Amino acid sequence: MQAVIGLAFLFHSLVYDSSTRSTFSTVCPQWYNHGGVRRTHFLTNNVGQPEARLLLPNRLADIWHPINNPFRTSLKRSYLLLLALVLTLPVKGQSSILADEQVRTALAGIETNYAQYVDLQITISEIPAPPFGEHERAVFMRDQFRSRGITSAHIDSEGNVIALRPGSIDRTLVVSAHLDTVWPLEDDVTVKRDGARLMGLGISDDAAGLVSLLGLLDALEAGDFNTESHILFVATVGEEGIGDLRGVKYLFREGSYANKIDAFISVDGAGGDRVVNGATASKRYKITVIGPGGHSSGAFGIVNPAHALGNIISHFAATAVPVEPKTTYSIGRIGGGISVNTIPDSVWMEVDMRSKEVATLAELEKTFLSAVDMGVNQENVFRSASGTQLEVDKKVIGDRPTGTTSEESAIYRAGFQSSVLVGGEPFSGTSSTDSNIPMSLGIPAVTISAGGLGGGAHNVDEWYDSTDAHIGLQRLLLMVLLFDQYSSVE
Ligand SMILES: [Zn+2]
Repeated sequence: MQAVIGLAFLFHSLVYDSSTRSTFSTVCPQWYNHGGVRRTHFLTNNVGQPEARLLLPNRLADIWHPINNPFRTSLKRSYLLLLALVLTLPVKGQSSILADEQVRTALAGIETNYAQYVDLQITISEIPAPPFGEHERAVFMRDQFRSRGITSAHIDSEGNVIALRPGSIDRTLVVSAHLDTVWPLEDDVTVKRDGARLMGLGISDDAAGLVSLLGLLDALEAGDFNTESHILFVATVGEEGIGDLRGVKYLFREGSYANKIDAFISVDGAGGDRVVNGATASKRYKITVIGPGGHSSGAFGIVNPAHALGNIISHFAATAVPVEPKTTYSIGRIGGGISVNTIPDSVWMEVDMRSKEVATLAELEKTFLSAVDMGVNQENVFRSASGTQLEVDKKVIGDRPTGTTSEESAIYRAGFQSSVLVGGEPFSGTSSTDSNIPMSLGIPAVTISAGGLGGGAHNVDEWYDSTDAHIGLQRLLLMVLLFDQYSSVE
């Protein structure tokens, strides 16, 4: 196929005159603006040809045309032939996919049938899935995969939902989204709907991603796509906060697919064109300061854990960090104590530290740990006359490794190009997501968004706007198909 397209280009470049060039030059999709977001329709143009974005620079097309070529010597011609042949290879997947009838039908089907996925997203979002409490939502997802024909869909021993759609060769692409939310069980997860706008805890992060897995499976089935790659759908547990990526860690380190995964996509949250190919490393601690405790007045003079915690915070909060590599920290929660008139016997805090660079993160961690020692020591010295001493427990509650996915990798190119094909303007990025784990293992992985618009993630006013949300699913389908093509080229 690749050779055929390559030869077609060569034939075209050599034989046809410039009047036919328009069929091969860039045909821009029809743009329109909606809600300030640039989108494109998949339509046919006025001569019944599919509108495809052919990433062939016009200048290059000009050079290919012997009519336009000012250097028509046979030597130059041979050179250009070779150049054209080489350059045609990566163009193949980009130029042909939207011309494919099967693909175009599938994309049109997604748009026509999209309303059901908005309903399904609401249903998923209304099943509570706090950290370490994802089971009910996992059962729902497993049953959704089963009802779509993957009868072997199951929940693994960590709690991930696993559903395999077999391909024809020994290559496995994981398409995943996370089951868990940041919201505790007691929070109301009812979704309020106002037209295209949905309001609800976790509606974007990551009910949007979960529903896209089901939509992708439907599109692959409806279009009868026989991918080379095995598509392994995975709904992971423990992506957020204290979950510490436990689901994806299990998938890659212990589960039955460990060492069998070739590429990984995480669909996380609403939105458009970012292709996350860098992993932010993070380290999280729970610090507990422990003392004897006593009456606020009667025992006055003994060491006070709350005072020590204050010292620690005051030291650490003054830490300067570089802007580049982006490095951040936050004391996210503090707690402890018994009553206003009691010297507490223990107080605690939880701290999040992140950096794009492992070495910088290690440096920050060192500074943090010495702030802890300094703060505790200060209180011990200040109250030493009492003969009491504080103790401190430093517990790592999060450790996310870093990594990068090459922009040359099939999965990155597929993510980038699929976004271009739906009229987006893709860009790369760095974040802390399920992709951290495969990236840290050198397995190409990217995190993309599910489409639609969303905001307020991890906030009580989280929202999702389903206007044109079908484009996100079209993009995901194209991405998976392009990955298949690019991988077979490699
Ligand atoms: Zn998320």
